[in-house]
Amino acid sequence: MRSKKELAIALEHLEEFTKPDVQLEQYVTPADIAAQVLWRAHLAGDILDKHILDLGAGTGILGLGALLLGAQKVTFIEQDVNAVRILEKNLAQLNEKYELGDTKIVLAQVNYTDISADVIITNPPFGTRNKGIDKRFLDYALTHAKIIYSFHKTSTLSHLRNHIRILDARIVEEISFSFELKETMEHHTKRIERIEVTCLKIVS
Ligand code: SAH
Repeated sequence: MRSKKELAIALEHLEEFTKPDVQLEQYVTPADIAAQVLWRAHLAGDILDKHILDLGAGTGILGLGALLLGAQKVTFIEQDVNAVRILEKNLAQLNEKYELGDTKIVLAQVNYTDISADVIITNPPFGTRNKGIDKRFLDYALTHAKIIYSFHKTSTLSHLRNHIRILDARIVEEISFSFELKETMEHHTKRIERIEVTCLKIVS
């Protein structure tokens, strides 16, 4: 990838969830935002030749982007088999066009795995439906990598900041975005909602 723009275009062509599971808080990180965070991580030397772990990988946009930027290996952890099927398709699509590093897809809940990596990149469920899940993802990340990029709802940040400090980790960067969520509601109509999201870079 020669530029952030080229990365964003490649990521835009990936397939998204066909039937997002509302309980699992499934939504895709918008391609331009994924590219922005990944490009920063790349410039900071956090991707090339590294083992990256994508927690709650969904359709894979973050981990796949890391592969496009030269990650040595990406491990994807995702609990939903339907998401994993799309992820596999996306990986196959990129494999046709690019030379990628190693990959491993783990179909499991984050809490039932124990895989460490150099860097964890995660856009987890925000804990809107499943209270506390964002914190469980964060706790896993802080104990399984030294460098973490994690997306959170900006409104939950003050709470998380304390939590991170108590665990002796440090936030070294904050990047804020306005996220467009195409939330599929129970009655099958689509509503577009904007939420404020911040990606934290944390060193543990
Ligand atoms: N990271 C992807 C998807 C974000 S949505 C992206 O950036 O586009 C959050 C994802 O976490 C969903 O795919 C959901 O199925 C998954 N998920 C929710 N709870 C989980 C858990 N306990 N363990 C593993 N994956 C989980």
